[in-house]
Amino acid sequence: MSIPASAQEVKSNIQISLDDPATVPVVIAVPRERAPGEQRVAIVPEVVQKLTKSGYRVRIEHDAGAGAFYPDDLYLAAGAKIVSGPGDLLDGAHIVLRVQPPTVSEVDQLDEGTIVIGFMNATNNLAAVARMRDRKITAFALELVPRITRAQSMDALSSQATAGGYVAAILGASNCPKFLPMLTTAAGTIRPATVLILGAGVAGLMAIATAKRLGAIVEAYDVRRAAGEQVRSLGAKFLELEINAEGQGGYARELTPEEKEKEQLMVSAAVARADIVITTAAIPGRKAPVLIIRETVATMRPGAVIIDMAAESGGNCELTQAGKTVREHGVLIIGPQNLPAQVPFHTSQMYAKNLHSFLALLMDKEGAIIREFSDEILTASLLVHAGEVCHEPIRALLNGGKP
Ligand code: NAD
Repeated sequence: MSIPASAQEVKSNIQISLDDPATVPVVIAVPRERAPGEQRVAIVPEVVQKLTKSGYRVRIEHDAGAGAFYPDDLYLAAGAKIVSGPGDLLDGAHIVLRVQPPTVSEVDQLDEGTIVIGFMNATNNLAAVARMRDRKITAFALELVPRITRAQSMDALSSQATAGGYVAAILGASNCPKFLPMLTTAAGTIRPATVLILGAGVAGLMAIATAKRLGAIVEAYDVRRAAGEQVRSLGAKFLELEINAEGQGGYARELTPEEKEKEQLMVSAAVARADIVITTAAIPGRKAPVLIIRETVATMRPGAVIIDMAAESGGNCELTQAGKTVREHGVLIIGPQNLPAQVPFHTSQMYAKNLHSFLALLMDKEGAIIREFSDEILTASLLVHAGEVCHEPIRALLNGGKP
């Protein structure tokens, strides 16, 4: 396969070949998610109704919505066709909507030229990306949608992180041996619990809001100073450090070794006084920063709980094990995976609305799939197209380079 010299070259070559869109109605297919623990579905009946009203044909695999409590008959009533398995689902489908990335064998079931939209988690899914390239599939990765104002309604990272932050706070509260609110009772006064949130992005802010609603005293820290105002507006205390590590696109940059040392000192003191610590710190494309070292865990109160939302990308706590709950020095350390799947009814609803907005960019006024992806949201999120990997860092990884 020849690799284009630049991402620009890929973009300018973007053309899709479909049957004449004026005569062929667009078929949108939604498979049942098969990844372990995945309860979400890419589309909900409310969005199916909008799509069918606009003239699209929607096929849903039998029981695709069951895990999120959307039964087949609701999809049917919304105008979808229910099909029994992947064969009937994918045959002749133009667009496939997914939550989790396809596996290599799922890619093999797709017709050449099919458009797949969903989270692609490409760095950890290189074999499937390569197969999509070789089978000339067009894949849009929702995690690559730029965080610009116009794309807010398509921002699935944010909608799902919001849910993740909420679930993390509930998980922390339900595993904490203390009440979160202050209580004044005939049996005495109970002091409120202290909750510390490390990383105040989308998930962290939702965790702060949820812990505040449960009545806890909430402290939070982020390397981006801009997060301070948002933290304070939620009624939490922002822990200040003389560091501002705001990097490209509003994301955090990696800290220097000196900055890391300062950060760890301050974080350690805050962690030691917390009953619940929720960590969400992440740097795009890199391993999560370690904010809580083993020695700090040993200083925590007995019964304290750490919910490490960065578990899947290496963990913010040195003792976290992804997908497991461990007890160390009397502290419960939970390394959850896929928290949004724990509230699948609403996360599917939000995700489906994100997809509906995204689909609007792909269609022209007549309801046909556009043939040139010139919109900056489409070019940024286009992962694979026409036999090429369009996202430079993933192309480099596939060619044996470093990210
Ligand atoms: P993320 O998941 O990449 O990271 C979570 C948080 O961890 C971030 O706030 C980051 O600053 C923080 N972090 C990283 N390293 C840290 C460290 N060493 N110590 C403490 N905290 C650390 O972030 P996200 O939630 O996806 O949000 C990233 C940015 O995008 C934020 O600025 C957010 O406001 C912005 N955003 C913008 C839009 C938009 O539409 N304009 C939408 C969503 C998010």
